[in-house]
Amino acid sequence: MMSEERRNKIKNSLKLTKEKRKTQDVIILKLKIDNDKLNNNTIKALNTMFLETKWLYNYILDKEFNNDIFKFDYKTNYANVYVKDHYERRKINYLSAQMKQDLLKRTENNISGLHELKENGFKTGKLKFKKEINSIPLRQFGKGKTYNIINNFNYIKIQRIEQPLKVNGFYETFTDNENIKHKELKYDFNNLDFGNAMLIHKNNNYYINITAYTKKEERNNNRIIGIDSGIKTQLTLSNGLKLEYNIPKSKREIRLQRELSRKAKYAEGSKKKLSGEQSKNYNKNKNRLNREQQKRNNKKRDVKNKIVHYITSNYNIIITQNDNISGWQKLFGKKIENTGIGSIIEALKSKASNLIPVGRFIPTTKECNNCHNKYDIKLNERIYKCSNCGYIIDRDYNSSLNMIYYGMKTKKFKNTVPEDSREFTPGETLTDTFEGLNTPYVKASYVDEPGSFNALA
Ligand SMILES: [Zn+2]
Repeated sequence: MMSEERRNKIKNSLKLTKEKRKTQDVIILKLKIDNDKLNNNTIKALNTMFLETKWLYNYILDKEFNNDIFKFDYKTNYANVYVKDHYERRKINYLSAQMKQDLLKRTENNISGLHELKENGFKTGKLKFKKEINSIPLRQFGKGKTYNIINNFNYIKIQRIEQPLKVNGFYETFTDNENIKHKELKYDFNNLDFGNAMLIHKNNNYYINITAYTKKEERNNNRIIGIDSGIKTQLTLSNGLKLEYNIPKSKREIRLQRELSRKAKYAEGSKKKLSGEQSKNYNKNKNRLNREQQKRNNKKRDVKNKIVHYITSNYNIIITQNDNISGWQKLFGKKIENTGIGSIIEALKSKASNLIPVGRFIPTTKECNNCHNKYDIKLNERIYKCSNCGYIIDRDYNSSLNMIYYGMKTKKFKNTVPEDSREFTPGETLTDTFEGLNTPYVKASYVDEPGSFNALA
């Protein structure tokens, strides 16, 4: 039995953790284990771990059905496995005591969750025996614990698996303008707290998802920005900055694409197969084209990272109407895919500590930000001219200011931002904050300088 003293100690430490978490933001790190680096013993160990997890889970359920789950000893080194019409006793070799305990805990939580639903009047079935289980909880982080992170965030060590597992996902790689490859840690990991993790088996690949906690940025003021995502000027910010970006196909990419499609057509039209030499050339060109496309994707990612970094490092409250993208997508079809506004908004969602969405049906484009009168502005009208109060303003800038107007009315905004720390100045001077956006693929301009784009490169 657990002593009173020990029980109190655990209770206190849980309480402390809970207090600490209030001052932290949560991040989920998704890591992929490098299959190519796994040796045969490791592959066997991983596969057996998932098999044993399934045996144990079904064994625990079986106990539950016989009402003696609370007698279940997580230290057990075997599981009774039901095969056809009888039980077989199988040895558990790879799951550590901690893993077994975590699995028991997870199953108990599932069971009590179901009970709770039932008590609240929901129709619930029973938990079912599983043919396959593809996740294993790894709750304890640290040296000698269920999992650990080692070798400069390149490897994960899992209890009972000898080989450290090479993982991808802690680092971000990108290519800069000079085509030099960079590798950077995604977060300041030395200031992160690592929580529980999950080992996942999916489509013959293994993944580890780790929950981590980072210190909430302490700022006296909450700097607010509204973002309008349009097609023509791509992003218009409520600070008066318009960002336009374009990453054109290289001449080489266009040529390769043309050549390839011509060859493919020729082969199709003549119903002839390409000769050995021809198909060798065809594949060579295909690889070349892939490489060119990869280069362009890297540039896109670089631009995306820079824009997201610019926004999140200068503002901590971001208000946007991300749903209008799907509307644009319908209108302009493929064009928008190349620009990747969606991926910028997605990245903002995961990086911004506070992203306040404005409902999709709120007519941010149609409304005058000065008097809040509405009129049906046409798609080709770039300047909003209010017939009610005479206000004249760039169409997208007006919309971004309306984002703020409506965003500040949302419950989420009122709940997250204290009244005395809301900082918003429309059209503030930004000359010094262009920093970080220096790429030839982004053009930045102020909305009050219509038609004069200042390339920053
Ligand atoms: Zn007006």
